[in-house]
Amino acid sequence: MSKKLLLKNAHIEGIRYFETYRKNGGYEAAEKALKMTTDEVLEEVKTSGLRGRGGAGFPTGMKWSFLAKPEGVPRHLVVNADESEPGTFKDRYLMEFLPHLLIEGMLISSYTLGSNVSYIYIRGEYSWIPDILEEAIEEAKAAGFLGKNILGTGFDCEIYVQRGAGAYICGEETALLESLEGKRGNPRLKPPFPAIKGLWERPTVVNNVETIAAVVPIIEISGAEYAKIGVGRSTGTKLISACGNINKPGVYEIDMTITVEEFIYSDEYCGGIPNGKKLKACIPGGSSVPIVPANLLLKTINGEPRYMNYESLADGGFATGTMMGSGGFIVLDEDQCVVNHTMTLARFYNHESCGQCTPCREGTGWMYKILKKIEKGEGKMADIDLLWDIQRKIEGNTICPLGDAAAWPVAAAIRHFRDEFEWHVNNPELSQTQNYGLANY
Ligand code: SF4
Repeated sequence: MSKKLLLKNAHIEGIRYFETYRKNGGYEAAEKALKMTTDEVLEEVKTSGLRGRGGAGFPTGMKWSFLAKPEGVPRHLVVNADESEPGTFKDRYLMEFLPHLLIEGMLISSYTLGSNVSYIYIRGEYSWIPDILEEAIEEAKAAGFLGKNILGTGFDCEIYVQRGAGAYICGEETALLESLEGKRGNPRLKPPFPAIKGLWERPTVVNNVETIAAVVPIIEISGAEYAKIGVGRSTGTKLISACGNINKPGVYEIDMTITVEEFIYSDEYCGGIPNGKKLKACIPGGSSVPIVPANLLLKTINGEPRYMNYESLADGGFATGTMMGSGGFIVLDEDQCVVNHTMTLARFYNHESCGQCTPCREGTGWMYKILKKIEKGEGKMADIDLLWDIQRKIEGNTICPLGDAAAWPVAAAIRHFRDEFEWHVNNPELSQTQNYGLANY
């Protein structure tokens, strides 16, 4: 049984409301933190080894320590709730069912960073959640946990919720800041990083919802105890949103010591693959990370079991590994067609490209068109090589990571499933009526 830190009270009826949350130990971590110095809280977060849960996995304590503190200039905490990565829906779960966990985490983090005005930037499509968050903010304020002179400490903090307008790119931190400033959500060139020049050119920390929520148990049990959970540099627990060909899709909290096999087949988590089908592949960290075929998914290149953590999933680098990413775990069974799947993702990235840089603007559209052609049985062998060439020219040559995110799924699909691409080229008639998976298993 995996240790629960974030979801331990998720089953309690009414936990969404302040009274129930408080009765079950809510805001005790905030009370504790507000009696500590900000340096002490920062030290706890550093000791915990917490890594950003949005995708990049950067150490949170280190990110916080980069925040510039020029005299007389306000600083901000901005929570990135623009959860738009296909396959990822764990932040939605937290905000919908445990909004006070996020608000409490924001209070502790805002205090530590010296942010008197903090923001939640939420994905536009999550249209019902801002009301839940705003209600929680009002409740916390009425109880003295937000507003002026919180708990008599002299610390003031207001939290505002800002709705996005449905653009995936606004999940990129600098595009998010542009959008929050009321402009078109185009990513900025870095440096300067937000820690130096962020929202309205003020020092800003942008963190994911789950990252900020995790600050609460870190203060509750101490950074050192948090660091004992998990393995190596994958400390603490991680929320995984599981979907695709599994019996039990949903949001699970894991402690990063379980194997991928256990996660897919155990009844505690995904409960196996429907109808006894075979596992073909998995995308373990949201649509941007490389797809991994079953044989490499269950074992690393060293023959060790593959674990659900940052290091083990990346074993083998981009040749055979993948990434923990945002924790959006997508399972494909033997009936699925990788070419069709990759084409769907390419269409998504093409649609979501902001268009600022040529390799991404032109390359994503080009990849989508070629994939569509191959999938329909109208491609040639040379198209597969062309596709490979285009993705290589996108990767690393763009302003923001969307370019890489568009290139990696295509690269991994060709690397691991070239036979499926070739099948579409060699079987033009069959390609129009069946997908590779159904025709070949
Ligand atoms: Fe825009 Fe794509 Fe360039 Fe990112 S990589 S800035 S999304 S064009």
